[in-house]
Formats: sequence, structure tokens, C-alpha cells
Amino acid sequence: MEMTFIMVKPDGVERGLVGNIISRFEQKGLKLRGARLMRIDRSLAEQHYGEHRDKPFFGELVDFITKDVVFAMVWEGPEAVALARSLIGKTNPAEAAPGTIRGDLACDVASNLVHGSDSVESAVREIELFFGKLSTN
Ligand code: ATP
Repeated sequence: MEMTFIMVKPDGVERGLVGNIISRFEQKGLKLRGARLMRIDRSLAEQHYGEHRDKPFFGELVDFITKDVVFAMVWEGPEAVALARSLIGKTNPAEAAPGTIRGDLACDVASNLVHGSDSVESAVREIELFFGKLSTN
């Protein structure tokens, strides 16, 4: 069964939205397979967001994600990656549809509450980065 990596970013933990966000994944029918409240160091943040290294907002992104604790999770289900991305909504909350996490709860692209893997390959890489090798049974 497909798995995806989801992370409530520091703004979501700080605003007390972890329960709200978890409920949406549970209600959709995905299964929670792992969870960790943790602090990300700069090295992990730079690996996680390596594809954005050359973007003008990279420094801001790493500062933001390392400033406080995050809630990292693994969710499983059929097409878990695509399902989770549709629950999360577009990157810019101004373009995210109502009913999505970012559409309902966020208003700023830099503080958009939650990360979700963008492909099965990214999910495998990110789950290993944050949780090590997970048992699949
Ligand atoms: P994430 O990887 O966090 O799930 P995403 O896949 O929707 O988000 P990406 O394009 O991968 O979006 O961007 C990664 C993150 O970088 C975004 O979630 C956002 O927090 C931040 N970001 C993207 N564009 C900007 C921007 N123009 N200014 C500031 N931060 C940005």
C-alpha cells in the first residue's frame, strides 16, 4: 500500500491545529502509520528542501521550518500521495480551494501549515529521512 510523508510545520503546531489536520486525514480514510513531534536541525531541513536550494526563499524556508517543533507523520492508503496533496490544497493559500487545509486555515505562502510529499519517490526519501526505514507490514 502507498505511503506518504506529511508534516505539520511550526506555524500549525504553534496555532494548535495538529488535531484538526489529523482529523482530515482520518476522515478521508488514510491510516496513520507513524508520528513524531520533533525539532528539525538545519542539516535535515536543507536535505528535505534540497530541490529549493537555488530559490530566493530558500534561507527563509530553512529558518522557518527550524524555528520550532514540527509534527511529522506517515500516512498510508491507496494513492496516499495524491489524496494527501488534494486534502492539503495549493501551495499558495490564496489559490487553495475552500475545504482544503490551506484553503480553510492558512493565508500566507511562507506559513502554509503543512507539507505533503509530491511523488511516491519523494515520499520514500522523506519517510527514510525523518523516520528511518519503516516496516511495511
Ligand atoms: P511543501 O513542499 O511544503 O509541501 P509545496 O510542495 O506545496 O509545499 P513547494 O513548491 O515544494 O510547495 O514549496 C515548498 C515550500 O516553500 C512551500 O510550502 C512554502 O512554504 C515555501 N514557498 C514556496 N514558494 C514560496 C515563496 N514564493 N515565498 C516563500 N516561501 C515559499
